[in-house]
Amino acid sequence: DGTLNIDRIREDFPILHQEVNGKPLVYFDNAATTQKPIQVVEALTAYYLNDNANIHRGIHTLAERATAAFEASRDAVKTSINAKEREEVIFTRGTTEGINLVASTWGLANLKAGDEIVVSAMEHHSNMVPWHMLAQRTKAVVKILPMNDAGELLVEAFDTIITSKTKMLACTHVSNTLGSINPIKELIAKAHAVGAITLIDGAQAVSHLDIDVQDLDADFYAFSAHKLYGPTGVGILYGKRAILEAMPPYQGGGEMISEVTYESCTYNELPYKFEAGTPNIADVIALKAAIDYINSIGKAAIRSYEHELLDYAVSKLKDIEGIRLIGTAKDKVSVQSFVFSDIHHQDLGIILDQEGVAIRTGHHCTQPLMGRLGVTGTSRASFAFYNTKEEIDQFIAAIYKAIKLFR
Ligand code: PMP
Repeated sequence: DGTLNIDRIREDFPILHQEVNGKPLVYFDNAATTQKPIQVVEALTAYYLNDNANIHRGIHTLAERATAAFEASRDAVKTSINAKEREEVIFTRGTTEGINLVASTWGLANLKAGDEIVVSAMEHHSNMVPWHMLAQRTKAVVKILPMNDAGELLVEAFDTIITSKTKMLACTHVSNTLGSINPIKELIAKAHAVGAITLIDGAQAVSHLDIDVQDLDADFYAFSAHKLYGPTGVGILYGKRAILEAMPPYQGGGEMISEVTYESCTYNELPYKFEAGTPNIADVIALKAAIDYINSIGKAAIRSYEHELLDYAVSKLKDIEGIRLIGTAKDKVSVQSFVFSDIHHQDLGIILDQEGVAIRTGHHCTQPLMGRLGVTGTSRASFAFYNTKEEIDQFIAAIYKAIKLFR
């Protein structure tokens, strides 16, 4: 019936069963990175214990096993985001590297002075800085899609910001600071109508939402395994074949070539053209265990339970005197930022840690957004499907404790 057995699920996450500063750990920093189920850790261990070998060029059995497992992970990603072809799935180090890859290769090949790159007001620095760097090199211009105070993009501004000068629309699917789910399908259609290419930062979306890159019609979609209950050090860059084919490679080295002479070289076919050097084999393989694990629970059930947690937390938070909730979009995921005018977020974070509660404080790599909101930073609690209402009670009690101390 879609109801999750949270006690059973929590058994798969041994890290949650510990005390921090004498209190049960409450891990509410899931937007920074998610915890890994034992199935993921075991996949890592099994690879190193049984199959470790370099991939693709090996003739021996271990190399064949490692290659098969690595490529099986590519298939799992392809299916989970509904890419049309497995060759459209490129393994990177993370969302950051995927975006930099596109900005450096597609961007330098296609942008000229006066062209416009449109990003939203709520981008993570990793979907802002690469475009600034590209703009500095090409004399292209970065334009901002504005939002309202709740953290919702202003739909009525789309047509004035996205124009025939727009060559790239780069927008986050879900805001890491606000939790807002952006209307990216509509944005992508607007961008395509003026002939622009689109890149969606899916870092915060993949753990909460079903992703269908073909339905969205995204040209690029980038995300990180570590925010999807998988290992660190692995990212996915999805790109449409025709665009990837037309792009120059990113890094040069082994694997990405077809033929090399002293004078020149030709490049390998997709996806290897963009996968220079020995990849993060073990972690890519373990990503499949994470995808299988999430599929076994189901994103719909995850989302509905996470919403229960969010509603419960917000109902308690909004009653706290002097609190300002940041990020109140109608359509959002289980992330809640907040500030107090009289208690610094860093002080609050330290007290919460003493009470066993892990939250994130600061600008969340969204400094421009902090300026837009008129704050220097926020406290952010982000919930995953292994969290509970009892943990939220412990979190709220810790906030009251901090208030008592600082007021
Ligand atoms: N975009 C968003 C919205 C994020 O939340 C993050 C991670 N905080 C990133 C990009 C960057 O991801 P990574 O550090 O894994 O490359």
